[in-house]
Amino acid sequence: MPGLAQHGQCEEALKLFYQMQQRGPMPNQFTFGSALKACSGVAAAAEGYQIHAHAVKLGLEGEVFTASALVDMYAKCGNTKDARILFDRMPERDEVSWSGMIGAYAQNGPAEEALGLICLMKREGMRMNPFALSSVLRACSDLAAPEQAKQIHVQAIYAGLESNVFVGSALVDMYAKCGSIEDSCLVFEDLPERNLVSWNSIIVACANHGHVMKAFELFDQMQNAGVKPDYVTFIGVLSACAHVGLVDRGYEYFNSMNRDHGIIPRMDHYTCMVGLLGRAGRLMDAELLIKEMPFSPDIVVWRALLGACAVHHNSELAARVAKHIFEMDPEDHVSYVILSNIYAAVGKWDEVAKVRKLMRDSGVRKEAGYSWIEVKKKVHYFMVGDPANPQMEEIYAELAKLTEEMKKAGYMPDTNYVLHKVEMDKKEHYLTYHSEKLAIAFGLINTSAGTPLKIMKNLRVCGDCHTAIKFMCKIVEREIVLRDSNRFHHFKDGICSCGDYW
Ligand code: ZN
Ligand code: ZN
Repeated sequence: MPGLAQHGQCEEALKLFYQMQQRGPMPNQFTFGSALKACSGVAAAAEGYQIHAHAVKLGLEGEVFTASALVDMYAKCGNTKDARILFDRMPERDEVSWSGMIGAYAQNGPAEEALGLICLMKREGMRMNPFALSSVLRACSDLAAPEQAKQIHVQAIYAGLESNVFVGSALVDMYAKCGSIEDSCLVFEDLPERNLVSWNSIIVACANHGHVMKAFELFDQMQNAGVKPDYVTFIGVLSACAHVGLVDRGYEYFNSMNRDHGIIPRMDHYTCMVGLLGRAGRLMDAELLIKEMPFSPDIVVWRALLGACAVHHNSELAARVAKHIFEMDPEDHVSYVILSNIYAAVGKWDEVAKVRKLMRDSGVRKEAGYSWIEVKKKVHYFMVGDPANPQMEEIYAELAKLTEEMKKAGYMPDTNYVLHKVEMDKKEHYLTYHSEKLAIAFGLINTSAGTPLKIMKNLRVCGDCHTAIKFMCKIVEREIVLRDSNRFHHFKDGICSCGDYW
């Protein structure tokens, strides 16, 4: 366990530090720096706070070396608020404090703050460093803010860091997560040096965008280039298989992991396999694989199987799987919704009612689906029935108009995806307002004709929205890219890149 060893080192460092205090010599800025570094390495917050108190006593808190080590320690321990207070108080800041602070926002959010700091860094004449750049790029990826990410890319070029392997890999990852697999590939092609992270970034990117053959080719190329795949690489190729239902190929990769590469499959790999088998309709095989895993299944792998049950409307297995899930997390809102959707799809309305009651009784806070879109460098969020956006009237009008045209083109709203058992008309009304549709309508109103729209969603897209967007993209003659919690869908000319397999 490398983590434990590191934690041991941290404790060792702290012991030494205390001995020094008792017997001298007096700790100085460098002792503080290395003791704090030991704590941030293992996110040992309690120890870190004690050292901070000592630094204050010795009047070393304001000294740049100690202060930046403190910022870095608080940041790495996840205490962004205190890190920022210290950061703002620093009379002068060095590279460590900038990187630490930006990294903290990139990791713990809000991502916008990381972007803000990059601008501040530039204004204060600080040199961009690869670490700060790559962590802010990761923040853009999570935010899926392509316009802002492009600006960071430009700054990376100015700073001469574009071909740095860390920045380059972060760019590959960022463009893919922001919906532009083309840009992602271009950056990768231009990288003068590629390490394991760069290869993994591009393979996972291709997999998520459904470019599975490319992902397999890259997997071979990587090995020809002398880079050994690791567990992340296999998550990439296995999820590629899952996205198109290549069961045999999936088994080949899965079995080769330990046999040819000495990599023991982890939970993530089993989850990919369960998703692959389940989606392909081999639900019993998927369940068996979970039972045969060499470790006890976690909630994620059960959720993967529940998702497959939803696709195949298998309510018996779903009930079994959900039991495991609710034992682990009685408040798993998304699973309640999926389960009740499965019952609704097969017309078991009594069961739907039971699930909803269970949900209320366990006090599950409703975490509704939401979508977001970046327009003019600003991210706009949408939720079902949320009147927060000042353009709501226009959005509804746009959707009503669009729905009429869609129906003329043959669109039939699929009412299986609504939770409640309500009359037909009302059901359609609910569906029209799913958050991704609201975000699309907003994008249509606020961008010029022909501009591709990039929408992100926190949950999986439902079947009805998927069908609807296929009609929409053709009618409005736009390319619509939708990233849901599972993968990317590229809608163009009435079809989706996923080939309706998702
Ligand atoms: Zn929907
Ligand atoms: Zn699709």
